[in-house]
Amino acid sequence: MTTLDITCVTLVGLATRYLEQDLPEQEQLNFELHLVLCPKCFHHLDKRRRTVRAIGALAGEPIQPERRNALIEAFSSRNPSTG
Ligand SMILES: [Zn+2]
Repeated sequence: MTTLDITCVTLVGLATRYLEQDLPEQEQLNFELHLVLCPKCFHHLDKRRRTVRAIGALAGEPIQPERRNALIEAFSSRNPSTG
C-alpha cells in the first residue's frame, strides 16, 4: 500500500479537471497532497497551468502557503513515524 492516494499517472489524468476546479473536494485534496510530495508532478502541473494561462482560459493559482501547511499536517498525521 502506498502513502499516496493517487499515482503520478492518475494525477496527470486529473490535471485538466483540477485546473478547471472540477474535482470533488476530497480528490482535490489528494491531488494537492501528491503535488506537495512529488516535484515531478508539481512541475508537470506548473507547465500545464502556464499553458492554460497562456490561452487565457483560466487564472491558475499556486497552492497557498496555508493550504500547503494544512496538507503537510494531514500527511504527517497519516505517518506518525516521520515526526
Ligand atoms: Zn507524481
